[in-house]
Amino acid sequence: MNPPIFLSNATLLTMRPGESPTVGNLRIEGNRITAVGSIEPRDGDKILPCENCVVLPGFIQTHIHLSQTLFRNTAENLSLLDWLMQRILPFEAAHDAESIAVSTELAVAELFLSGTTTVLTMEAARHTDSLLEVVERSGLRAIVGKSLVDRPVGIANFSESREDAIADVLRLKKAWHGHDDGRIEVCLAPRFALGCSESLLHDVANIAAQEKLRIHTHASENYSETRQVRDETGLGNIEYLHSLELLGPSTFIAHCIHLDPSEIELLAQTGTHVLHCPTANLKLGSGIAPVPEMLEKGVSVTLGSDGAPCNNTLDIFREMSLAVLIQSGRLGVGRLNASDVLEMATRKAAEALGKEREIGTLEAGKLADVVVIDLNRPNTCPAQDIAAALVHSSTPQNVRDVFVNGRRVVSEGTLTEMNISHLMTRARENLTALLSRVRRPN
Ligand SMILES: [Zn+2]
Repeated sequence: MNPPIFLSNATLLTMRPGESPTVGNLRIEGNRITAVGSIEPRDGDKILPCENCVVLPGFIQTHIHLSQTLFRNTAENLSLLDWLMQRILPFEAAHDAESIAVSTELAVAELFLSGTTTVLTMEAARHTDSLLEVVERSGLRAIVGKSLVDRPVGIANFSESREDAIADVLRLKKAWHGHDDGRIEVCLAPRFALGCSESLLHDVANIAAQEKLRIHTHASENYSETRQVRDETGLGNIEYLHSLELLGPSTFIAHCIHLDPSEIELLAQTGTHVLHCPTANLKLGSGIAPVPEMLEKGVSVTLGSDGAPCNNTLDIFREMSLAVLIQSGRLGVGRLNASDVLEMATRKAAEALGKEREIGTLEAGKLADVVVIDLNRPNTCPAQDIAAALVHSSTPQNVRDVFVNGRRVVSEGTLTEMNISHLMTRARENLTALLSRVRRPN
């Protein structure tokens, strides 16, 4: 077993409510944090000096598509429905087991190097085992959902029958849910209302209740999408999901931009979680989610960088900063601050996922998902206001060390277990091969 790690003289940002940053130490033993605060090192501890570094809980992103990472920089200047139909859905349909594995590895490399240790994801409809095998090896903490799409969307090999989709997700649940002491879980991920029959959505609601699985979907991202749902159902997108009993504390909905006030009430009353993806929303011209209004009504809002082709990174620092800045531009300063988005990317995300007893704050007894951010860099010096330095000045290059479950996956800014140049070569080769397999929409 590795020796205990002793992070010394760090600025500890525990993310516990009401606690300010303080200088102190933190010990990691096995996969747990065993002490935090003014503690002394013991014989046998491996000491990591952390002067001018902030130590905080690993970041949690609640909306990510690992399997889209290979499509980074391939889908520019398109709005949502064209972006999906002309690029992303045909690309996902062209994935094979190897390309999805490489895409996932590339995503994990970037997530670790930028301090993200836990993700809630939505993936392609096929090759999910290949993706989960990479997640298993890498050490990433993840809740993974294969896309459930049973309506013909005009793209070969994208949709499945309702029966096949449900059978596959139940098989995945049996094989993977709770794997490695709960580090890996499976969720139900109906892609979006327009891709799913009403019967499939009924099945999702029933299975989520029976099997105690989370539901992860997209809704009200784009005006045309929301309009189409209304034309088909006579309801707003959130109202429609509510009519199918899909809202509740186990449901996670990405975007929620085009909402009626009554839909914000519905999200609040049902305890449904909203996943805010500011960069993707700006890039695809979707709009700006009314995050302060949702928070004021008591809606749970957390953050995600969505997919590499709609972002074009998986960088949580940019998501946090943009989340603040776009609301300042929209409503004036002060409606959403750096300290708010730091909470959304740590403790509040852990609470949303029901994992607050294990992750999301630095406390003795919690799992050792810990990030060391080096503020002794020109872009973060001076760091008088720690929250501002993390949210608005830091970039992934400030991330020095990352531990997930006590495993040091980044050391001194370098991945400890991945050969990044080999991985990038494989990524380029796999993208070329995948593009040659793509069949354009019918
Ligand atoms: Zn998404």
